[in-house]
Amino acid sequence: MAILGKLKLKSLSRSFAALSSAPLRICVVGSGPAGFYTAEKLLKAHEGVEVDIIDRLPTPFGLVRSGVAPDHPETKVVINQFSRVAQNERCSFYGNISLGSSISLAELREMYNAVVLSYGAESDRSLGIHGEELAGIHAAREFVWWYNGHPDCRNLAPDLKSSDTAVILGQGNVALDVARVLLRPTTELARTDIACHALAALEGSSIRRVFLVGRRGPVQAAWTAKELREILGIKDLAIRIQQADLVTTPADEIEMKNSRIRKRVYELLSKAANPGTSPFCNPRELHFAFFHKPEKFLESDDKSGYLAGVQLEKTILKGDDGRTKQVAVGTGVYEDISCGIALKSIGYKSLAIDGLPFDNHKGIVPNIGGRVLASVSQDESKFDIGLYVCGWLKRGPTGIIGTNLYCADETLACITDDINKGVLSSDSSKPGGQGLLQLLDSRRIGVVPFSGWERIDSEERRRGSLKGKPRQKLTTWEELLQVGCA
Ligand code: NAP
Repeated sequence: MAILGKLKLKSLSRSFAALSSAPLRICVVGSGPAGFYTAEKLLKAHEGVEVDIIDRLPTPFGLVRSGVAPDHPETKVVINQFSRVAQNERCSFYGNISLGSSISLAELREMYNAVVLSYGAESDRSLGIHGEELAGIHAAREFVWWYNGHPDCRNLAPDLKSSDTAVILGQGNVALDVARVLLRPTTELARTDIACHALAALEGSSIRRVFLVGRRGPVQAAWTAKELREILGIKDLAIRIQQADLVTTPADEIEMKNSRIRKRVYELLSKAANPGTSPFCNPRELHFAFFHKPEKFLESDDKSGYLAGVQLEKTILKGDDGRTKQVAVGTGVYEDISCGIALKSIGYKSLAIDGLPFDNHKGIVPNIGGRVLASVSQDESKFDIGLYVCGWLKRGPTGIIGTNLYCADETLACITDDINKGVLSSDSSKPGGQGLLQLLDSRRIGVVPFSGWERIDSEERRRGSLKGKPRQKLTTWEELLQVGCA
């Protein structure tokens, strides 16, 4: 109830500022980069707009907190900018509100003039191969959430002890993050904001060999050069690359001519494949396994239901005219890698919610430039008025944090256009945050306001300072709500 009282005061001061008409109330669902950039741009572009940002978690910042690797603190600096947005007097953050269970989309839309969905991608693509359910196999997203202290993966307990080998399937930047965390000296990780349960497990890890498996070649790997250079530079790490995999075709040459990143990545790999003699006596090893696709997961003979390895099929690339994407085709030649843990890093996937049109094939909400279409199959020009989308839910799970700036610009342009055309207008019957909080209060759902996050933040920094870390994250729902809702 206290938060409801504070909200009334905030609304009162806002209404003096707005003087005449009711504000246009917009709810942004999801407080990651797409949500915060959209909120920031809305507040800048429209003085009469008020924005409430809600999130399923008690904490804001989405992938910046739960996705960005702990050894990339510079990428997290954007949190300062997002915090200033949340502190704007026309903006509020409310955590611990799960769209679809705390409140339905229809209810939310009753309360706001417009809703922008930017809740990202909280699930994973699947390989659809035999054995995918075995213990010891995780989505890379879960592993990332685990080491970043996301409360949903606090108890993941990945097996880092029963074998010396980990296999990562997929060759994107998430795969590189995961490989780096597995291979980097833990003395270096100890100085980051990595979750303490993950640091303890990594300190006791027996993983010495990591395979990064790609169904295509070194020219097609989805890494960026900076991230590749970083992993190649890990202390005491032996790099294993087959010289035969570096032989390029005319189609590869065209791909490299068309993309500076692809060329740079290829050059870095070529250089790393010629390191001369290894100076290390007992190094950790990173194996780049190109031209192999996962065929099936192998079950342990000794321990039923547990992973013992991955069977890969050797591939060749087809589509060599340089215009179409080269695709991997199986050759019928198989190879097994024994391992105790396999991490599927083949892409994230957004989740549908009740009452929302959803394109299951693409894993996105059907939209044009951020305006949600009334249905996947219907006439393209029929929009669901007042409903917008931004970020991975709009365009699929690709792109870095900065990509969301452009994505938010595009969504903002749709909203602005709808405001200018009178399609969206303020309406005093929309209660906005006050109505939202009243409803959640009646459902006994404790909401974490931005001041609650600030308490969590201070507590994490305090605990971190005792251990020489920037922060020690609170990693359970209980702790987060206890501090955030106090
Ligand atoms: P991604 O870049 O799309 O890479 C996915 C990888 O999975 C590709 O190698 C892809 O190979 C492979 N793959 C997909 N389906 C497969 C299948 N059925 N079998 C085998 N392999 C399959 O995705 P991501 O690594 O999850 O990254 C998501 C986005 O976040 C990217 O834009 C990434 O750059 C960004 N990110 C950036 C950073 C950073 O800047 N530090 C860190 C993390 C993530 P094909 O190419 O053959 O499809």
